Amino acid sequence: MLPPTYSKLGKDNLIVFLRFLIAMFFSCIINGNNLCSNQPFVSSTDSNIPLSLRALRLDGYLSSGNTEAAAKDFGNMHHHLPSAVLHPKSVSDISSTIKHIFEMGTESELTVAAKGHGHSLQGQAQACRGIVINMESLQGAEMHFYNGEQPYVDVSAGELWINILHESLKHGLAPKSWTDYLHLTVGGTLSNAGISGQTFRHGPQINNVYQLEVVTGKGEVVSCSDTQNADLFYAVLGGLGQFGIITRARISLEPAPRMVKWIRMLYSDFSIFTKDQEYLISSEDAFDYVEGFVIINRTGILNNWRSSFNPNSPLQASKFKSDGKTLFCLEIAKYFNLDDTDTVKQKVDVLLSKLSYIRSTLFLSDVSYIDFLDRVHISELKLREKGLWEVPHPWLNLLVPKSRIQDFAEVVFGNVLTDSINGPILIYPVNKTKWNDRTSMVTPEEDVFYLVAFLSSAMPSSTGTDSLAHMLTQNQRILEFCRTAALGVKQYLPYYSSQEAWQTHFGPQWSAFIQRKSTYDPLAILAPGQQIFQKGIAFS
Ligand code: FAD
Repeated sequence: MLPPTYSKLGKDNLIVFLRFLIAMFFSCIINGNNLCSNQPFVSSTDSNIPLSLRALRLDGYLSSGNTEAAAKDFGNMHHHLPSAVLHPKSVSDISSTIKHIFEMGTESELTVAAKGHGHSLQGQAQACRGIVINMESLQGAEMHFYNGEQPYVDVSAGELWINILHESLKHGLAPKSWTDYLHLTVGGTLSNAGISGQTFRHGPQINNVYQLEVVTGKGEVVSCSDTQNADLFYAVLGGLGQFGIITRARISLEPAPRMVKWIRMLYSDFSIFTKDQEYLISSEDAFDYVEGFVIINRTGILNNWRSSFNPNSPLQASKFKSDGKTLFCLEIAKYFNLDDTDTVKQKVDVLLSKLSYIRSTLFLSDVSYIDFLDRVHISELKLREKGLWEVPHPWLNLLVPKSRIQDFAEVVFGNVLTDSINGPILIYPVNKTKWNDRTSMVTPEEDVFYLVAFLSSAMPSSTGTDSLAHMLTQNQRILEFCRTAALGVKQYLPYYSSQEAWQTHFGPQWSAFIQRKSTYDPLAILAPGQQIFQKGIAFS
């Protein structure tokens, strides 16, 4: 439809013309466009945006408002204000912004950080005076499912895992490898590893991706996989955001189970506890999920479990006294469908009979698959209600080689930590055979290593054992012990503030890491919050 020309407009035609304009306006809205998307948004109206970026033409928008939100993360300890936040509506918004900054060269100090759900701990998704890209703006892009022999889903990297779970279940499918908490983005966990109780079987999330779309530090949009641009593919997986911004990912799926038999039991002897954990991760057909946690100086543990689990022997369980002893809880799960209820129960009974836990402490619960996977969100809601979610989180995550886990436990659980850390301490083994060693992620050298996660919450006004200062000191003591005892520990979600420390962390992989950096982000524009490289300073 062409508009009538103005010169021919009489009164009637003027009405027709006005109707035409109104129709065009609504048609643009209905089609999901706005009039601006035909004439791309020019950000020059925002006078706080760095001058050099004001001419960028984008489908989304750059904003200097609400930069405070981009200077916050789950750790709640580091706050660096960016100059502006990009809310991209397309991959080309990301690539043209980075390309523009790349072309300005080292004269510009601008850096760029992708922000997923901002659940980093020490400012890793922040960019001091730079640009933060809010990856969640890309959320809502359609997920494409392929339901063949090796099913997968194509998703935006700004998508939350919980949304992927909900959509996949509609197709009777689900991703294989998870994190304990699902309100994290695909790009955020793939930049680290994505470890949970399924890792021993499927490897971490970075080993369950077939293909990625990445915007490099030069602004190029590159598709990559194990067979196409493989070096970039493996660089980006576990690459701490250093080599490119992941914009899309193809995630491997499996048929989703309906139900989960979720089981907990206690041990008082650490070596028996780890022997059972190691046995479980070595058997292919035992449980689908294996984790564990440490309980220090707590009473009434089993009473707390009763709200969501049933004791196997209620009378005996009621007689059990923890009395502040250090205990170790094995947490395991078996997936099943309702048709298999009886056979699964028999199978689980046989498997449990091979373990050496304290018999009176066996607790079980049958829950839906979704409730099991989204379990931490329930705790989040409770903590939010009490105002205890948005507090500082001085978390420390370590990967400890199997051969040194006893030494580690003896000193750390027996000596350094004498009291609860005001949060869980997770501990469970994974096996390296399930990890692809071509990714950027570094692990200890042994075939089996333990994830030990100290997930503490600090009380803002406290000066006691639950204060931030106390918890940070405790973390330092643990790290210092690992270093002096030469345990061969690696940090997970690593945090270092000097390049020497990063070099030590990467060890023999450091030269490959530098090589990849100079290939894909030679000006060190990306992910400055990791504090590995600095723009304008040569790599070494
Ligand atoms: P952000 O914090 O926003 O970003 C993390 C890093 O990745 C930053 O450097 C950022 O620049 C970069 N980044 C973000 N998106 C992209 C992208 N699209 N492309 C390139 N780089 C990008 N981890 C586990 O492995 N297992 C767990 O069980 C687990 N449980 C957790 C529970 C809670 C409550 C929390 C808060 C965290 C947990 N984590 C766990 C850690 C979590 O995986 C990481 O903190 C992860 O980075 C958070 O994802 P995010 O979307 O918030 O990323």
